Amino acid sequence: THFGFRDVPVAEKQKLVGQVFTSVAAKYDLMNDLMSLGIHRVWKRYFVATCQARPGDRVLDLAGGTGDIALLLHERVGRTGSIVLGDINGAMLRVGRDRLTDQGKVAGFEYVQLNAEKLPFPDASFDLVTIAFGLRNVTDKDAALREMRRVLKVGGQARVLEFSEVKPEWFRPLYDFHSFQVLPRLGRLFAGDADSYRYLAESIRKHPPQDELKAMMQAAGFERCGYRNLSAGIVAIHTGYKV
Ligand code: SAM
Repeated sequence: THFGFRDVPVAEKQKLVGQVFTSVAAKYDLMNDLMSLGIHRVWKRYFVATCQARPGDRVLDLAGGTGDIALLLHERVGRTGSIVLGDINGAMLRVGRDRLTDQGKVAGFEYVQLNAEKLPFPDASFDLVTIAFGLRNVTDKDAALREMRRVLKVGGQARVLEFSEVKPEWFRPLYDFHSFQVLPRLGRLFAGDADSYRYLAESIRKHPPQDELKAMMQAAGFERCGYRNLSAGIVAIHTGYKV
């Protein structure tokens, strides 16, 4: 392909993924709105509104870069709850921290630069672990899922919001056109960067589809695994519990 992510070694890939997010961090929001016509906001709202969160809960939001999910989670866990934002990329973490701080959200939030594959927390630390549009970028997804389960308390819930496999056949050509023709052009126009967006489209196609991800969660030790498609499977929400 034009942007040769497919055949690069793992360490190199991680570096490249880092560069992608450093280069898009500032324009990230505008681009999300343009690419999804604002629908990513609805997906995120639904994701948080339907997760198992109670006032006072301690929550870990992985790949939490922009702070979008954390902000919504805060409404669910309240003043007595706490939210840890974890992201591998310092620039993304700063974007999230600045945004939350600007909205007066300081108490109850922590920021940790981390790799989801190896979490710097003891076992059974959280009531809920979320990862939104992040698992796709993690190199060793099985390791990340195992780690998510490890840091959950018994009875805790893991939730993954991620691009998935579009279900209706007729919709696929349209979706592909948007991904490979429209998206890189939007990227060039508004962020001066077509390659990062080409990478995003490519990473979406490589991500395990609904049933495969469900099986990966089961293999990582989660119980009562299931998923729900949103917008015809453009994204899916996967859920699993530590029992
Ligand atoms: N959750 C936010 C949202 O929904 O708007 C941000 C999603 S953004 C597409 C993906 C994030 O995953 C980036 O901030 C990136 O730095 C982070 N990321 C990629 N690989 C990671 C890893 N191995 N561990 C933790 N975060 C990672």
